[in-house]
Amino acid sequence: MSEEQDAGREIANRTCDQCGQWVPEDEVLYELRVVLRAEPTAKVDDAGSDLRGLQREWEDLVEKMEGMSNEEVEEAADQVYEEYGFVLCGPCRKELHRRLKRRTLLP
Ligand SMILES: [Zn+2]
Repeated sequence: MSEEQDAGREIANRTCDQCGQWVPEDEVLYELRVVLRAEPTAKVDDAGSDLRGLQREWEDLVEKMEGMSNEEVEEAADQVYEEYGFVLCGPCRKELHRRLKRRTLLP
């Protein structure tokens, strides 16, 4: 993303995603980016060394997905990788900072 787009986004949304407070132009706004992803497993490497095995796994996956609703497919994808962007006000940044330091992200 270019710096111009970043600047445009900052101005467009000055509402804290955590507490809902509007952050005035003269106060600092904080951007939080979160990536939650599954640890790559050895299973992927094994499949890569055997093309037929890889194809079979792919077919199994497609078959499994065909029996799933859109929500279930989304949930399965989220279990592998999900990324979010949050806007935070000063006090919420401070609270998050406190939790990060204690390594207790969840309440
Ligand atoms: Zn806030």
